[in-house]
Amino acid sequence: MSDLSEYKFTFAGGVHPPENKAITEDCAICQGPVSKQLLIPLSQHIGAICEPKVKKGDIVKAGDVIGDCEAFVTAAIHSPINGVVKDISLGSHPVLGRVKSIRIEVDQENNQPRQPSVEFERAVDVSRYTPEQICEAVKKAGIVGMGGAGFPTRVKIEPNPRLPKKTLIINACECEPYITCDYRIMLEWTNQVIAGIQLAQKSSGCGEVFIGVEDNKPEAIRALREALEETEGADDYKVVALKTKYPQGGERQLIKAVTGKYVPTGSIPPMVGVVVLNVATAAAIAEAVVCGRPLTHRVVTVTGEAIAKPGNYYVPIGTSINDLIEFCGGVTEKSAKVLSGGPMMGIAIADLDTPITKTSGAVTILTKEDIGKAKYKKRQTPCIRCGRCLEACPENLNPTKIAHAVKYNRFDISESYYISACVECGCCSYVCPANIEITGHIKTGKIHLARQKKQMPQ
Ligand code: SF4
Ligand code: SF4
Repeated sequence: MSDLSEYKFTFAGGVHPPENKAITEDCAICQGPVSKQLLIPLSQHIGAICEPKVKKGDIVKAGDVIGDCEAFVTAAIHSPINGVVKDISLGSHPVLGRVKSIRIEVDQENNQPRQPSVEFERAVDVSRYTPEQICEAVKKAGIVGMGGAGFPTRVKIEPNPRLPKKTLIINACECEPYITCDYRIMLEWTNQVIAGIQLAQKSSGCGEVFIGVEDNKPEAIRALREALEETEGADDYKVVALKTKYPQGGERQLIKAVTGKYVPTGSIPPMVGVVVLNVATAAAIAEAVVCGRPLTHRVVTVTGEAIAKPGNYYVPIGTSINDLIEFCGGVTEKSAKVLSGGPMMGIAIADLDTPITKTSGAVTILTKEDIGKAKYKKRQTPCIRCGRCLEACPENLNPTKIAHAVKYNRFDISESYYISACVECGCCSYVCPANIEITGHIKTGKIHLARQKKQMPQ
């Protein structure tokens, strides 16, 4: 490994919430439930919503394409299991409310739970694959960013002569409290992750590769470094230990920390020659290219003090949060709130039929005590102009001004304060001594503006 002192290891702003990763960090990845039904949303990514490619009553096999469209920025959707299409209608979605979804009744007699791939017990010879083959396999597999953003991966790793890619950064920070699914993937699927990184590098043409890991995961850093030393063609990849700080895993914060480059507001990483991929996405790339497997399953952390059997579970996409919670022994009487995601960026779930999607990394069950500690449950008082939200904002925004504008329906003013640059990290709300739900106001403003511009369903 080269000397890392030339790199910067963090970004300006951010906060240090309690990590609470000890609940699941020692829980090895294990099989999740096999549900009676799966609910598979046709929108699990940024870009064009898929059209159903099946109809009610159709028999589907595991891996069949059930949703797709012709747009460039989209990602195909596959059936994770053998079964019968019961219905195509509006269904719950963890982020978008209700979207068109395909409900599949699982064929209980002809379904073996899918196992993680065994092809990665030793290093993979990536020289067997051309960049075109890699892109095609990733497209066919419907891979999207699994860290939460859901951007179609093929678009990211495809060569683009107008925006040549120079640096590939693997986002292995997992900075959100409680969540450990990426950590377990790094420890248990190390070769698969490295094969995915090699394939992504080959496809994108990047000359340098960094793997950014927060320094609260020394075991993962060690596992990756040891595996890289033994992998031909990957020994010049750099594993960068980053300061543990939220949101270190934010794309722009990670680029700043690792390369020192600043992605201008309104711009995207390829404009500065950088591609960022989540560590679980890298593993999915390897599975797609080497094994021809579409993205139909993922690892989900089920966590919190109020769940009987917290852990990291490998589940079919479309599994309901309710089935997952029941599989984990149910919740205790202390449970008070279910989040899709972690406590900083997660979304409270009202309908437990809401499914796991390609971007769902965690289900967090909060207790009344957890919520009692949360600022937003305390009484809000007027802004005292302390400036803490400005200091904490990793995007250098003025959160209080944006929130104030939204509160009074002055969306035009919120735009002049760059509301669209907000990454909804929640740092401003976390530090606010007046307990103002700043991020909530900003999210509301962004939804309102997107609807005004017809960028999302009414
Ligand atoms: S304004 Fe947005 S980006 Fe800035 S701290 Fe608040 S939620 Fe995070
Ligand atoms: S942190 Fe809260 S009280 Fe302080 S300036 Fe921001 S909104 Fe106002």
